[in-house]
Amino acid sequence: MFSNFTCFRIAQDIFHKLNKNGLCSEASLDQLFCEKDSKFLADRYVEGTCPTCAYPVQPQIAVVFLTHAALRMHVETSAMAVASS
Ligand SMILES: [Zn+2]
Repeated sequence: MFSNFTCFRIAQDIFHKLNKNGLCSEASLDQLFCEKDSKFLADRYVEGTCPTCAYPVQPQIAVVFLTHAALRMHVETSAMAVASS
C-alpha cells in the first residue's frame, strides 16, 4: 500500500506529464473554502460550516484542470478493449 505522500507524488507526476503534453486545460468554478484551514471543501461534506473546524465557509473561485476530450476518449476506448479481452 502507498503512503499519502507516495500517492501525492504519483498523481503529481501524472498531472505534469499530461500538462506537459498539452492534454490538460484550465477552468474556474465556485467552490466552498474554509479560510481558517486554508483549504477548499467538498460540497457534500458542508452544511454552512467547515466539517473540520466549524468555521463558516464561503464560496471562492477554484482553478481546476480538465483533461482533453481526446484523452478521455482514449482512456474509455482502452478500458473497453481491456474489458472485452
Ligand atoms: Zn475549517
